[in-house]
Amino acid sequence: MYTEIKIVLVNTTHSGNIGAVARAMKNMGMTDLVLVDPKSFPSEEASVRAAGADDVLSNAMRVSTLKEAIKDCELVFATSARARHIPWPIMDPREMAAVVGEVKKADSAKKVAIVFGREDRGLTNDELHLCQHHVCIPSVEAFSSLNIGSAVQVIAYELRMGFLAQAGQLQCPQWGTKWDVPLATQDQLDLLFAHFEQTVLKTGFLDPDKPRQLMTRIRRLIMRALPDSIEVNILRGILTSVDKSIKLKSQLKKEVGE
Ligand code: SAH
Repeated sequence: MYTEIKIVLVNTTHSGNIGAVARAMKNMGMTDLVLVDPKSFPSEEASVRAAGADDVLSNAMRVSTLKEAIKDCELVFATSARARHIPWPIMDPREMAAVVGEVKKADSAKKVAIVFGREDRGLTNDELHLCQHHVCIPSVEAFSSLNIGSAVQVIAYELRMGFLAQAGQLQCPQWGTKWDVPLATQDQLDLLFAHFEQTVLKTGFLDPDKPRQLMTRIRRLIMRALPDSIEVNILRGILTSVDKSIKLKSQLKKEVGE
């Protein structure tokens, strides 16, 4: 994960929330927590909610003003659920992560801070004006305010996704790229579709006079799943078992008829 990114919490009231933030950060590989004048910290409740992220709590820096928390940072984002009077450059968390990614790519030592407000009132206008960009998680307007731990989680997740993409560590699409069995070849798929067609003709499911789009739809369904070669063999095995039981049935019929 990127280093030199601080999560700054201003005047947090509930110490449990500080613990939840520490946990959200550690899950995403972030460690730098700065507490600006917290109401009560350290606390038992914070440790309980940190659920194993105690190291983030014990390494947390404590300062008395936001200015002090961000004085060494080159890039500072304030998070806010509400639009304010004087508009400020505003972005969503994904755009923020893209900006951070570009800055970190150019120089990983650049210091970044992301600032979170009080549970009841958020950040003051003066505090917001200390930050270059405002980040708003696009929640629904009628109920826009997230719990601070959840807000940190969303931001930290987007930063991590940006980081993983930059590091080439995202397995997207996962199918077939890190698979234990090689994907079926087009040849294998063609044989499967031919086999499928023969079998459904035999069962009577496919009417040769009215084929509709049956085989095209089956093809699309199976192609969409990107089956591997074992999966294709399994499907062929199932079709063979259907073929055999049809054969057996018709032999029995013949014998009874004879
Ligand atoms: N009632 C406050 C919200 C406080 S929630 C207000 O109206 O501003 C506590 C903090 O969580 C906020 O200060 C902000 O840092 C973060 N937060 C909550 N919801 C958010 C959202 N939708 N977008 C960005 N940050 C959010």
